[in-house]
Amino acid sequence: MALKAAEVLISQERIAERVKTIAAEIGQKYAGQNVLMIGILRGAVIFLSDLVREIPSSVDVTIEFMKASSYGASTQSSGEVRISQEPTIDVRGRNVIIVEDIVDTGLTLRRLCEYFSASGAASVEVCVLLDKRERRVAEVPVEYVGFVIPDQFVVGYGMDYDEKMRNLPSIHVVREAAEE
Ligand code: IMP
Repeated sequence: MALKAAEVLISQERIAERVKTIAAEIGQKYAGQNVLMIGILRGAVIFLSDLVREIPSSVDVTIEFMKASSYGASTQSSGEVRISQEPTIDVRGRNVIIVEDIVDTGLTLRRLCEYFSASGAASVEVCVLLDKRERRVAEVPVEYVGFVIPDQFVVGYGMDYDEKMRNLPSIHVVREAAEE
């Protein structure tokens, strides 16, 4: 099935505005402290890079990445989540914020939260750009949410279909290429 990016669900202007608001919240909460922001590869790279640049300099920000994968070129999560790249920075005693592109079933974030609860981090919070709330299978606490969206597959602003379309500056829904 070939899919293509169709209409814009969330424009780059709306994203930029929301990113600023979340960054301000993090700024208020962590002023004078260090926060270790862990971007989940690959989808959260663009969100993380925009977010950290909006966090005020009163917060001492460290960036790290890790990778959690479910499988295949599918628009459905497989349910099997493995951590395929661990952080190399020691997280013990740190205030961690996991930065993820989208929480869908919640299985990926549940796995990541389990990972960090065993890591000795001082605190762990979760920040997602998009929340497909109606699809949740595993309940996970999410402190910062960009937008709640309906159950539609989306691409752009870091999010992919089969590793493509991450570069689109806005968030689009996808459609079968043959539909138009
Ligand atoms: P979950 O484990 O079901 O919550 O899925 C989380 C991961 O699935 C996200 O980090 C994305 O990589 C991927 N994902 C879920 N929905 C979408 C989507 O609409 N577009 C692109 N990736 C998605």
